[in-house]
Amino acid sequence: MELIVAHDRADLEKARSSGSVALVPTMGALHEGHRSLMRQARALAEQVVVSVFVNPLQFGPGEDFSRYPRTFDTDLDVCAEEGVDVVFAPSADDMYRPDRQVGVSAGEMGAIVEGAVRPGHFDGVLTVVLKLFNLVRPDVAVFGQKDAQQLALIRRMVADLDLPVEIVGAPTVREPDGLALSSRNRYLTTDDRRTALALSRALLAGAAESAPASVRAAATAELAASGLAVDYLVLVDPATFAEVPDSFSGQAVLAVAARVGTTRLIDNVLVTF
Ligand code: AMP
Repeated sequence: MELIVAHDRADLEKARSSGSVALVPTMGALHEGHRSLMRQARALAEQVVVSVFVNPLQFGPGEDFSRYPRTFDTDLDVCAEEGVDVVFAPSADDMYRPDRQVGVSAGEMGAIVEGAVRPGHFDGVLTVVLKLFNLVRPDVAVFGQKDAQQLALIRRMVADLDLPVEIVGAPTVREPDGLALSSRNRYLTTDDRRTALALSRALLAGAAESAPASVRAAATAELAASGLAVDYLVLVDPATFAEVPDSFSGQAVLAVAARVGTTRLIDNVLVTF
């Protein structure tokens, strides 16, 4: 089957199949992490739709919206190689009416951890994801655990707003040395990249411990030695992103965000107590 490229909602409507549909939302600059999501999607539905849209709403002033990597031609090759059926790549003007007023609020959970550093970010994410759900009408949508708070908030939106879509979370794909794949890794110089390895090293050091306090301590010690400008290191409940108590048992997320040079990176691992 030939890959269909839908540049606007009318093209998308024509391309959409009447069978089951799996959606993989992305901002493009596709890498092996995105490929793993596409493979999951391929196994879950008859038609796979990948959206490629750098969503202006989820970037704050001074963030990297204008320099975010845009590699559309190679993205299409990646999608074709992965057996994707439809790429939906709308323009910002097609997605957003100039007089738009209404959007999704991520609530208090959208204002903590990553949301505390990037005010409004998750409102922008949820608004575009809800619009993509309404336009594509997928049976299932696949998101990466790499963006753990985003995944948690999308699950909350689906539950709170009764959206008829199943959400599947996919594990984080890493380079052999541990660095989580990210479209933003291409900003890193060789030195930056070496410094950035402290993120996954800290998470790994934390995950090797067996109690919340020692997880936090081991990860903090690794970061302190790294030269990274750390925005946060938290050990939180994967569903709520509230800090877990020292007495916690169950699964938690150890999540970190840090800046290296001009690039901001996030990463996380699941830890079970
Ligand atoms: P993005 O294009 O960065 O907005 O990401 C699109 C989707 O790919 C999101 O669901 C991300 O969580 C997911 N993703 C990004 N990086 C990775 C990775 N290294 N492994 C698995 N999924 C990822």
